[in-house]
Amino acid sequence: MKIKLEVSAHHIHLTRQDIDILFGENYELRKRNKLSQADDFASQETVSIKTDKGELKLRIIGPERSYSQIELSVTDAINLGIEPVLKLSGDIASAPTVNVFGSNGTIQAPAIIAKRHLHISKEQATDLGIEDGKAYKIKIEGERGLTFDNVIARVGEGFNLACHIDTDEANAADINKNGGEGELILL
Ligand SMILES: [Zn+2]
Repeated sequence: MKIKLEVSAHHIHLTRQDIDILFGENYELRKRNKLSQADDFASQETVSIKTDKGELKLRIIGPERSYSQIELSVTDAINLGIEPVLKLSGDIASAPTVNVFGSNGTIQAPAIIAKRHLHISKEQATDLGIEDGKAYKIKIEGERGLTFDNVIARVGEGFNLACHIDTDEANAADINKNGGEGELILL
């Protein structure tokens, strides 16, 4: 079946405590636009991350999380001289940390390369026989067509069927930043 592909640009998630440090006590992130999954939104606020090799501006994706996490592409990590560690979002224990600068202060946050994944609701997952945490394949058509293996299913509240890939993956398959579609292969 055809499913929607959405492209995640580099971004950061922040805890309440880290927002306090970066922007000031009780600072509220201002919503720029809503994203497709649950109550996720792109905020108007950005932060900078800096390493010895470079600097990058990152948009904050709200709402507040229980952990702070930077998500980069492999290209970003190479440009910044950060070891690119491929992880499922939230698996930050062994990720390298990076200095993050806000308008009011500085924190250190772990940086990962997020594994490509499939957001899906419980109902959709039951209908399609998809299991949380399992890997699926998505085939992309076109001049630079390819098949993405190891797309990890993430079943969750407020999720709606869509595959998230990063900008490197999108570029490799000639998918623009507004996304595209692919064929979900259920094995
Ligand atoms: Zn996602």
